[in-house]
Amino acid sequence: MNSDSPNQMLPIVDTLGRAHTALRISVTDRCNIRCFYCMPNEKIEFLPSREILSFEEIVSFVEILADHGVKKLRITGGEPLVRSQLYKLIQKLVVVPGIADVALTTNGILLTEQAQSLYDAGLHRLNISLDTLSEQVFQRITRRSGLEKVLQGIDQARQVGFSNIRLNAIAMAGLTETEVVPLAEFARQHRLELRFIEFMPLDAEQAWQPDKVFSGQDVKRMIEDRFGKLQPVQADDSSQPARNFAYDDGSGQVGFINSVTEPFCGSCNRIRLTAEGKLRNCLFSTTEWDIRELLRSDATGQEIAARVRECVFAKKAAHGIDGQDFERPLKAMYQIGG
Ligand code: SAM
Ligand code: SF4
Repeated sequence: MNSDSPNQMLPIVDTLGRAHTALRISVTDRCNIRCFYCMPNEKIEFLPSREILSFEEIVSFVEILADHGVKKLRITGGEPLVRSQLYKLIQKLVVVPGIADVALTTNGILLTEQAQSLYDAGLHRLNISLDTLSEQVFQRITRRSGLEKVLQGIDQARQVGFSNIRLNAIAMAGLTETEVVPLAEFARQHRLELRFIEFMPLDAEQAWQPDKVFSGQDVKRMIEDRFGKLQPVQADDSSQPARNFAYDDGSGQVGFINSVTEPFCGSCNRIRLTAEGKLRNCLFSTTEWDIRELLRSDATGQEIAARVRECVFAKKAAHGIDGQDFERPLKAMYQIGG
């Protein structure tokens, strides 16, 4: 790739005027657990390493997008912490001119070992997935053991200095009902923000059905029954998907990402880069744009930016999960990057 991209070019805006300033980067499709709402349990064909973007390729792409107004990055996967020496990628991304915020989503299993190096690398924010506080339920979800490691990882992350850790919990019928109150109690006690994310049709085993979504409204009701009325909190950033609420007794906030029952596509500002370098304009895209091919050729920064624009221009108004003609993407969550 030739690095000829002049600074401060046009922002990446779609046909509905949505400016795309956030990029989610998947660094691997591998994972050390097997959540049933995401991955298959067995017979998984992971990408061979030659197909995965190198750190240098990811950084080159981010430099181009930063010139076009992308400011926020989220590193995800698969499980990003299984990618060797991830902190080295973070070190490179936080210094890209124009990048103001670099966040990471992890299942937390490897955080005890890696929290310090991630913090030292300059990682700004950390989201840790935590669906339950029961080892038995954890094993049912992940088909592995490891809750204790996740809890240790959360503790370690706080100790090394991460201050705005968020916990993400899935909201799924038949699973989440018993977890809501213990998770909320845990988050309140440790002063962590908890967010419930509605189960989406991105599970590899294709078991998703509308009635398996436990709506954010129902979770909110359960929390209010236990802890009292929640007060809406004005979002600082209108593109953020969570609706946040404060507890009346001042013990922090809880958020709801109601992707299915209250889609927020109208304010979506995100594009997604898969581990093998394909660009998607939505979690539910059925089309992808090949960036790796360009990064591994003589393509200029302008040519790469042009492909990004093509991708963003094709973005639909909404994901359409509830529509008659909704088509599930062929890839599951771990192959896209959640
Ligand atoms: N492995 C990391 C983790 O679990 O945090 C990062 C990748 S994971 C795909 C990112 C987030 O997607 C997790 O919080 C997970 O709970 C969520 N997720 C996975 N499958 C989902 C689904 N079908 N519907 C809703 N959220 C899902
Ligand atoms: Fe792994 Fe995250 Fe998917 Fe669970 S949700 S299987 S931790 S990638």
